[in-house]
Amino acid sequence: MRNAGEIPGSRPASQSGGTRKKRLGVYIHYPFCVRKCAYCDFLSAPGSDLAREAYLAALCREIREMEHVFRNAEIRSVFIGGGTPSLMSPEDFIRLSDALHDAALDWEPDAEWTIEANPGTVTPEKARCWKAQGVNRVSMGMQAAQNGLLKRIGRIHTMDDVRKSFEMLRDAGFDNLSLDLMMGLPGQSREDWQETLEEALVLQPEHLSCYSLIVEEGTPLLDWIESGRMTLPDEETERSMYDDTLKILGAAGFEQYEISNFAKPGRESRHNLSYWDLSEYLGLGLGASSYIDGKRIKNTADLQSYIKAEYPAELAEVEETLTPEDKMSEWMFLGLRKTAGVSDTDFAEKFGRSFMEVYPDQIRQLVHDGLLEQKGDRLCLTRRGLDLANIVFEAFI
Ligand code: SF4
Repeated sequence: MRNAGEIPGSRPASQSGGTRKKRLGVYIHYPFCVRKCAYCDFLSAPGSDLAREAYLAALCREIREMEHVFRNAEIRSVFIGGGTPSLMSPEDFIRLSDALHDAALDWEPDAEWTIEANPGTVTPEKARCWKAQGVNRVSMGMQAAQNGLLKRIGRIHTMDDVRKSFEMLRDAGFDNLSLDLMMGLPGQSREDWQETLEEALVLQPEHLSCYSLIVEEGTPLLDWIESGRMTLPDEETERSMYDDTLKILGAAGFEQYEISNFAKPGRESRHNLSYWDLSEYLGLGLGASSYIDGKRIKNTADLQSYIKAEYPAELAEVEETLTPEDKMSEWMFLGLRKTAGVSDTDFAEKFGRSFMEVYPDQIRQLVHDGLLEQKGDRLCLTRRGLDLANIVFEAFI
């Protein structure tokens, strides 16, 4: 456990003079939802007004406690995720935004600030408030275009809610909107997925994330599947869905920049890219993770402890300190998620060696198996490698 005064990344003021500020991504967790979706194992739950108020107060406290981390940093991106951050009232959002602006004074001129929103919880007033506070990107969970499928997985909204929320965001002036879609849902056909992609494109988002459903332990969905009440599409259908994604989004002018992420040129999510580039980020709020000064740190996941703590930041633990070998390995398997892959020049600059020297056997084998290819000094997943990415990542762990 660490004390607020010992947070990695902090330096006494006397040592920080003249040092270059670090570029920092900030993740803020808002753990409340209207109700729990059937497939969800995220740190999220419905919460009373009282719990939400107490949480917000603790979150603002934690943000202010981190002032000394912010002092040495320039903010490159902020991502407010959850849960459902769009549940916050405009007044609550302004409190959160004020705390952040009070603590973090130095922002890159084109810093990206995203909030996650659920259709059905967006209002014109909230959208205008986010915009006025400096949010410049909204990521919305559409998931599927079929109301029956949405209901089956416990989503609170319909496709019509998606359209209405999207319109409210455009009306408020947002020109950078992303939609999350899910393939491999129970009972979802290949045609359903194609329709989902087409309906999403009608809305003309700047960014799309297309994730495969993962059935997690302890979720109602797992029980329904195990009891035979619901069935998942087979592997071949799922693979066809992924093929459709590449074709349909490619034809619509989207560039795939990561296994599951697609963007109009220049609209890649900077915040997500910073995770895959092994850049530093500060996680704030319940269960949030940070990566600073080579340390992975995690906040408590216990809501009551987080709320009651006088100094919420004290409830964080250093989970691991990355060795140089860990960093090289993470840099490889995170970087290979990007379609641009990893550059040997960048690797050598960072670690003083070529990745061919560190991982000669793994790279030769994966290239031989058609999962990786070399493009100049870069190493990237092939089309086959995109389907079998886990095999590639495991080779570097
Ligand atoms: S809205 Fe998102 S975080 Fe909330 S329960 Fe559903 S999937 Fe989980």
